[in-house]
Parts: sequence; structure tokens; C-alpha cells
Amino acid sequence: MADITIRNALIIDGTGTAPFEGDIAIEQGQIVAVGEVEKSKIEIDANGLVVSPGFIDTHSHDDGAFFRHPGMEFKLAQGVTSVVSGNCGFSAIPIEPGVDPSKISGGILSGVKGEFTDLDGYFSAVEERKPAINNIMLVGHNSVRTLVMGHEKRAPTALELSKMKSYVQKNLDQGACGFSTGLIYTPGKYSLTDEVIELASIAGSCDALYTTHMRNEGDHLLDAIDEALLIGREGEVHVHISHHKSAGKANWGKINLSLEKIDAALAKGQRVTLDVYPYTAGSGRMAEYFNLDNINKALAEVIRIASCPAFRQYEGKSTVDIAEDENLDVTQVIYKILTAPEGKKTLCIHFIIDEADIETNLKHKDMMWALMAYPIFEVFRIHVYLALFLASWDTMLEKKEFCLYLRP
Ligand SMILES: [Zn+2]
Repeated sequence: MADITIRNALIIDGTGTAPFEGDIAIEQGQIVAVGEVEKSKIEIDANGLVVSPGFIDTHSHDDGAFFRHPGMEFKLAQGVTSVVSGNCGFSAIPIEPGVDPSKISGGILSGVKGEFTDLDGYFSAVEERKPAINNIMLVGHNSVRTLVMGHEKRAPTALELSKMKSYVQKNLDQGACGFSTGLIYTPGKYSLTDEVIELASIAGSCDALYTTHMRNEGDHLLDAIDEALLIGREGEVHVHISHHKSAGKANWGKINLSLEKIDAALAKGQRVTLDVYPYTAGSGRMAEYFNLDNINKALAEVIRIASCPAFRQYEGKSTVDIAEDENLDVTQVIYKILTAPEGKKTLCIHFIIDEADIETNLKHKDMMWALMAYPIFEVFRIHVYLALFLASWDTMLEKKEFCLYLRP
């Protein structure tokens, strides 16, 4: 007799077949039968509900969340049973003894403890906490570059490049699924395309991915797409473009042109995939988005503060509201925060994306949905949409993981 039976569910099994009604039997944590099944010890009626394999969040920054919240409830509540961490060039590994992980990554990797140096060590440290979900890791360019050459605004020497390569190679050998860049961020923005090609080609030779938060997602989106595709061709590596978007009102609609470029590359046989998050805001370290000598007012007006060690009272508030409360111009609010002690650790959410662009993205056949709902969202409880990673459902099914969803 099975341990659990889920009855009368609408089953979407992830193989691409149409949804069908049926029962699912589970024994010792594994699915043992689908279809008509006998009575078991625990019966769950799922009439009106959908059962599917757990979702994979292809774009997360959960490297540190596995230490802070090993139960990963904020992911499980959205049906996510696996995440890809180490995105946008920021990964918990590699690290060296005595180096403060927060210096490498700012707030993005908060929670990461300095008890390991490589991926093997990271996974052991995470497993000790008995994580509730799976973690698939990327090795990040910004982490590697900071470790080798700090935040130097120049190309690496031959010796530095070879050190960076050996870090990337080692972590790929230990099971990282790819190499990620965040070329909009410090210090990735100081790197030339050639450096990235050299490092991404290591991922190519391991049949791993090159994932990128591109150098620009607004005024120069199309140049950034060209660069990403060039890196893929020259490095002979599958390119995955992270959170594809046209940022800023002046650029809305431009994703139609970038998708054309991607379609042309796909037609020529290049391996390219993308992901999109299904909401109209992005998030990250506020310091990365502003030049204090010339603060972009249009951007300053669409910001909400997520985490702000310098002014905890601002957390959850919009910069427009803070400006009104304190009788300041919105650009002065940005200046005040970023010049305060610890101000550069501020994480913000910026509402810069057009809903119509999200719909266009979601219709693209090589688009995956990513959530990027990491714990900063808990600060003021933004409800992010449930996201699906359709392309990987068959893998999930192989692992016989499942979760139960309420259908509205
Ligand atoms: Zn990113």
C-alpha cells in the first residue's frame, strides 16, 4: 500500500502532453504510480487543483539564502523546488580564507559565511543546514575578478587572467552549471569583451552555460545583445540571457528588436536561451544605478527602497514619498542615501519595465520564466507571480519531485 495518494488532480506532468485527470501514489517520498491507483494510508482530495513537478527558478540570488533560510519557504510557497544561484556574476564561490564575502558582492550574497573556498565546500556547508530545495550553481565573473584583481578598472594581466581561468575551471569541474557575468555591475563593467570570451569559453569546453546580465538593458540594449551573441560564438558556448528587458520608458518596445537578433542567431544554429521575470520591476544595489555627479531623475522617481542599513525607516518606502516627507527633491534623497555610511549597501527595487514587453517576452519560444523573488522582497511583501520553468519539467519529473498548487 502506498503512503500517500493524491486523488482527482488535474495532472500536468511536464512531458508536454495535455493536462489529464488522475491520481498519484507516493511511497517513501517517490511517485510510484500515476493514473488509477489503490487506496493508501493518507488520501488527499485534489479535486479542482493542479499537480505538477516542482518549478525551477532559473534566475536566483539564493547563494546566501540557503544559510539564512534553509527551509527556503519563500521559494516553496511559490512551488519552486530547485533554483539556479550565482547569477549576474555574483556567486558565493570562489572565495579565499580571510576575504569578507560581502566585500565581493555587496548585499547580493548576504548570509554567505566564510567557511568554504570552492563549490565542494559550499555545497557541504549548505547541506549541513538541510536545505529544503535543490540548488544549482553558476560561478560568477564578478566574484572571480574581485578575488584576483579587486575593483581595478583595467584589463587583467596574463597572470591575473590565468588565475581567473583556474578559479572558473575548478568550480565548473566541481559541478557548476555555467559561468555568469554581470557586465553592468562593478567590477564586471571594467572588463572588455575579450576577457569574457576567454572565461566563457571554459564553460563552453565543459558543455556548461554562459549566462549574462548584459552590459546594458536600456539605451544600448541592442549593442549588449550583439556582445552576448559574439561571446557565445567566439567562446563556443550556449548563451543564456538573464532577465531580458528594455529598461526605462524611452526604450520600451525595443525588446522586439533584440528578439529579432536572437531569432536570427538561432536560425544560424547558435545556442541561445533567455529568461524573463514576470513583473515590471528590477532590483539590485542602488549604488550601481546612479552616477552621483549626475543623478538620473527619471530613474530616481521609480524607486522603492528594499533594504537600507543607513536609514532603516526608509525600507518599504518609495523615494517619491521619502522626498515628500522630508521636503527634498527625489535626486537629493538618492544622494543622501548613497553618501551615508553603509549607504552603498542599499538594495532597491526600480519599476522600469513595460507590461506589454513582458507579454512579448513570455510568448517567445525560447523564453523561460524566472522569479528572482529573493528575501529582500519579504521586507515589504511584494507578491511576485508564480513562475514556471516549462523547459525543465521533464527533468523534474525524472527526479519525481512534485508539489501541489491551488488554482484560482
Ligand atoms: Zn541581473
